[in-house]
Amino acid sequence: MRDLIKRITRDLINSNYAIALTGAGISTESGIPDFRGPSGIWTKNPEEEKLAYRSYQVFLNNPKKWWEETLTTPFGLLEALTKAEPNPGHYALTELGKMGILKRIITQNIDGLHEKAGSKDVVEYHGCISKLRCLSCGSRFPQDKFDLQKLMGEDKLPPHCPKCGGLLKSDGVAFGEPIPADVIHQSTKEIENCDLMLICGTSAVVYPFAALPISAKERTTHKERIDETGKHTFEMVPAVTIIEINAEPTPLTHEGISDYLIQGKTGEILPRIVEEVKRTKAT
Ligand code: NAD
Repeated sequence: MRDLIKRITRDLINSNYAIALTGAGISTESGIPDFRGPSGIWTKNPEEEKLAYRSYQVFLNNPKKWWEETLTTPFGLLEALTKAEPNPGHYALTELGKMGILKRIITQNIDGLHEKAGSKDVVEYHGCISKLRCLSCGSRFPQDKFDLQKLMGEDKLPPHCPKCGGLLKSDGVAFGEPIPADVIHQSTKEIENCDLMLICGTSAVVYPFAALPISAKERTTHKERIDETGKHTFEMVPAVTIIEINAEPTPLTHEGISDYLIQGKTGEILPRIVEEVKRTKAT
């Protein structure tokens, strides 16, 4: 483990544009269960998974009914999501951002904990539970700007966009729902710009998010070599170093997409990396 912490520290310090991709695993230490880990919500209750897959179709068929169901039968994660606070893993990524090493976080999480921990440059790939999004103009609004219970009581659901009058849905992206265009645009740009990708706490099985490391892996760059006679040659090398921090190996590990895995808890490993970066920079 110590050698891996030193290796990742070196890779981070030598990088020009490091980004992090995060998933539910980084928030389990904040008390939010993941879906597919050993204690995951769907591992324990496969019925809830089936309901989640149907949700977007219900919204398309009848947005009023979807809103009424959402407000009266909140899903299993809701309580944990509303109570949770960031953990040392979130704060460590914030600190790497403040040091100028980490340029962006692209998270699958809908819990808003990266922003709560103080991270500035966050792309919420699957949206955020505490926001509503207009399906026409794409504007996002804090959910607490709307009295949804009152709207339900007055039979005025679904809510509409204050800017364009379009239909409002929770910003959280449901299964089968297209990823919002602005998010696709930002993420694509980040994958094209990065030279290091730190993947934290994701099983990497939910697409299209799981395709981001694969796209990064396909990028190559020219590297100049000078041999002993002084002759310059160029060779094609991978453009992005891909590192996983996860409790267990994932398809990215098995398929050789990631260069290496640091196996363990993000809440323990990420703060150790921050300490090692500080120590290395100070010497
Ligand atoms: P997942 O549940 O499929 O996988 C989580 C991974 O993290 C597993 O491999 C697990 O072993 C690992 N893990 C668990 N705790 C860890 C820890 N402390 N340190 C390191 N690794 C740990 O999650 P996913 O890949 O993010 O995909 C699930 C989808 O569900 C996402 O799209 C996300 O939007 C949503 N989700 C979000 C939250 C949240 O916002 N906190 C919670 C559950 C699910």
